[in-house]
Amino acid sequence: MGCTFFIQTLGCPKNEADSGMLEARLSAAGHRPAAAGSADVIVVNTCGFIDAAKEESIAAILDAAEAAHARGARIAAVGCLVERYREELEREIPEVDVWCGLDPTALLAAVHGFAGEVDGGSAGGPSLRRSTRAAPPRLRRPRPVSAYIKVSDGCDRRCSFCAIPLIKGGYDAVSADGILRAARAHLDAGARELVLVGQDTSRWTEAGWGGMRRLLAELASLESAPAWLRLLYLQPDGVTDELLEALATYAVPYVDVPLQHASGAVLRRMRRSGDAAAHLELLERVRSVLPGAAVRSTFITGFPGETDADFEELMGFIEQAGLAVAGVFVYDEQEGTAAVGMPDAVPRQVALERAALLGEALDREADRYWKALRGTEVEVLVERGTADARGLAVGRIALQAPDVDGRTTLVGAPCRRGDLVPAVVRDTLGYDVEAVASGGP
Ligand code: SF4
Repeated sequence: MGCTFFIQTLGCPKNEADSGMLEARLSAAGHRPAAAGSADVIVVNTCGFIDAAKEESIAAILDAAEAAHARGARIAAVGCLVERYREELEREIPEVDVWCGLDPTALLAAVHGFAGEVDGGSAGGPSLRRSTRAAPPRLRRPRPVSAYIKVSDGCDRRCSFCAIPLIKGGYDAVSADGILRAARAHLDAGARELVLVGQDTSRWTEAGWGGMRRLLAELASLESAPAWLRLLYLQPDGVTDELLEALATYAVPYVDVPLQHASGAVLRRMRRSGDAAAHLELLERVRSVLPGAAVRSTFITGFPGETDADFEELMGFIEQAGLAVAGVFVYDEQEGTAAVGMPDAVPRQVALERAALLGEALDREADRYWKALRGTEVEVLVERGTADARGLAVGRIALQAPDVDGRTTLVGAPCRRGDLVPAVVRDTLGYDVEAVASGGP
């Protein structure tokens, strides 16, 4: 009869997509999703990108192991962190029942074995609590309004700070057929927004089939057409005019482009292209095709050799960039990457201070972007509805990506999860938006 499972996802939206695929594989094998407090197996999908993410993943594994074992459930740790540090983790955290890297075969086999214990009892070792329910526990979490779809894995670029190619290997595109199949499944399950993710999304193409423009066109014309299509992780040199035209035609006006720095000298040491002038030219092209687009980015402070002048150049760029939102990371050396041992390391305290200053500047500049939306007409994709016109619904406008950006509260109309409600922006608070349904009070 199979096991029940709960997947806890750490890290970025790409990991959400992996968890979605894992859920589909486990479900296809006869297991069923359940709430964390009642599942037979807790699966922690880890992130190994930077030290903070590793620590968060390890803390999540320990917490989940304690909670699972207290009620006789099993714990599996999977994903990037396990792929990279399996031996050390196995040694340090013996509480985990199953370790599995990026290939889920071992997890599927182990869960199959646990299911045998649930159904028939175990010959030895800690056995799973037998379910006394006649019917499988229902998944309490509603199906997401937004679904992540992975269009590729791995990366052929070799940014000197990044461990992703070491963990995930080279760039590997998912087939058009696979992407469209996943999209149909998500839409049939009630998703209204499809978010395409990969390490280098703009690069997606399939020989003899076409590139991102055709993919977006096909996704937009699926029978239960998505309300919104969104692309995350566009590398700057992949943001071509053709891609921008495709976004303007088929997707939301949202450009997620990790710039990482604005000093050409720092970017060269990072093994990346561009500088402040090139970034500004890129942003101008974005806005000429997608006026008012939300541009999201990420930046690193304290990369080896970053001088006060480099940092000032970055701050100057931020004042002109008009970004809607950005993440700031303090450089964190990753073993095996080309940046290890680079000269002129920046003291941690200096890197932290620069990150704080950069964060303040980004908040200040972003505030201008969001405030300018006051009084404009938008559509709100409802994630939590209300039956009462005086009640408060919660969702997002197209300029806000799921999980990583702000939210929108909506008043003035009863609405249901998944509805797309025309509204007017009444106010903004930081990265959050307050909207009133058109025709509402
Ligand atoms: S583009 Fe650079 S930062 Fe992004 S995944 Fe590839 S190597 Fe890492």
